[in-house]
Amino acid sequence: MKLRHLLLPLALLAPTASAQEALPVTGLPAEDPVTQAILHAEDLQVMDHLEELSEGIGPRLTSSDKLTEACAWAADRFRAFGLENVRLEEWGTFPVGYNRRVMDGRMVAPFKRRLVFASPAWGAGTDGMQVGPVRIAPANAEQLEAARGSFGGAWVLVANTRPRFDRAADSEDFRDQLGRFLDEEGILGTIRAGRRELVHTGGNYRISADALPTRVSITLLREQWQEMFSMLEQDQEVQIGFDIEAEFVPGPIPLYNVIAEIPGETDELVIVGGHIDSWDGARGAQDNGTGTSTTLEAARLLAASGVRPKRTIRFMLWSGEEQGLLGSRAYIEQNPEELDRISCVLVHDGGTNACAGIYATPGMMPMFEEVFGPIVEHFADHEDEDLRFRLRPLERLPRGIGSDHDAYLTAPTPVPGFFWDQRGQTSYGFIHHTQNDTIEHVRPDYQEFTSRVVAAAAWRFANTEQMVPRGDMFGPPPKRLGVLLADDGITVSSLTEGGKAEAAGIEAGDQLRQIGAVSIESQDDIRRAIREAEGETEVIVQRGIEEIVFRIVW
Ligand SMILES: [Zn+2]
Repeated sequence: MKLRHLLLPLALLAPTASAQEALPVTGLPAEDPVTQAILHAEDLQVMDHLEELSEGIGPRLTSSDKLTEACAWAADRFRAFGLENVRLEEWGTFPVGYNRRVMDGRMVAPFKRRLVFASPAWGAGTDGMQVGPVRIAPANAEQLEAARGSFGGAWVLVANTRPRFDRAADSEDFRDQLGRFLDEEGILGTIRAGRRELVHTGGNYRISADALPTRVSITLLREQWQEMFSMLEQDQEVQIGFDIEAEFVPGPIPLYNVIAEIPGETDELVIVGGHIDSWDGARGAQDNGTGTSTTLEAARLLAASGVRPKRTIRFMLWSGEEQGLLGSRAYIEQNPEELDRISCVLVHDGGTNACAGIYATPGMMPMFEEVFGPIVEHFADHEDEDLRFRLRPLERLPRGIGSDHDAYLTAPTPVPGFFWDQRGQTSYGFIHHTQNDTIEHVRPDYQEFTSRVVAAAAWRFANTEQMVPRGDMFGPPPKRLGVLLADDGITVSSLTEGGKAEAAGIEAGDQLRQIGAVSIESQDDIRRAIREAEGETEVIVQRGIEEIVFRIVW
């Protein structure tokens, strides 16, 4: 047997007896050559995809030309891998498009140095390199009056922390006054200090073409901000310059999700993906170049094996995620009929660590043990203990992690959405939405690991007999007897199909007399009795002149 295997190409092999053996819960084959091929595949291309995306294209702010370019590029890749139904699907528009090409900042005097900074997306740019003196913002009304006429053409250090400035600076009145003063003076822009060694990026897309932002707003590396502040306090002259080329494009700007499929035999779906958009403060390599590139690589691995799954495996790259899961939420709203056909949604958006585990509720665990069995086994001896794939039991699926799987968990018909449990040596917080979101911080070994896990999991989920059970995804299911009651509150008027009462043999017209230790006089008694019931409970009903005892297991 073994020898014959070695001599024949995989596709020509008749299934062996053991390959035909089905696992009890999922019906998946006990030996799965497709999964083994994925886990052992060589020459993975995931880092090539990432390099093209984050280095070749760059950051992908929603409503920027770069995002549109990235969506078209991803669709091209999917097509080249042989996927089907590849499309860009418009999910909505933003009022104003925004392209940022140059982001340069330096100190000019007393010495020369590059400045590490961020400025908000959809924020004002500069007209070329704007060099000017640095001033400390007035800290109270008195200082403000004294400073009138001296701030024109200056970069202004403003406080975002106490106790550097007087308490008065925090009062709303003074902040308004200061804002008006800075506008009237004609400053070049304001400069705040970042948090510790990080400058965070962000921005508000809800701007209008006829009232574009005009005030340049900089967040500077805290150390550099403090250094300038100290020099100014010692009456040293400081000159700095910023060049931010920001282009506003009158909208509406159409926005897309990228979709590609490996068609299955049924109309059910397994969705894997991540968001393709990013902030534009760095390169969007971690957030979410990692998830985009593993989604592409999983698609390539599966398409290369030439398999046809039972369910369609759909790859989705959403956009507008950073502004509040906009692309995934809009897609769901536009395609509500799909929701009860989706077995599960697997989202990779947790940064540069490896997808080394997944959460499962008690209701899901038996299925997940079979689905992930070969993956767990494959990585069981991994030298890095973090990377031994684990199923992580939970009472309910976590919500509010804030990526596109949440859009599915909170959909009108909630769909089991999973955010991988990511483990490894890299620091998410050091990179997330900061100047450090660059490809140097991405680990190729973790990326390859994740590509294999995502591809193998998608394949296995696509072939289970049943879809992922939803009954306890938000916690243990409520205990229900499965009866509707007549006006008297204790007579069964009808039974819920598939409910416990029906299964036990209770019939319409039966009058509930006792549940467990509680004798039933009213509907409140029934509620209380069910609340208290555990394990196996005796239910006594009156049917005609008879009293009948049923047993119900909760
Ligand atoms: Zn993200």
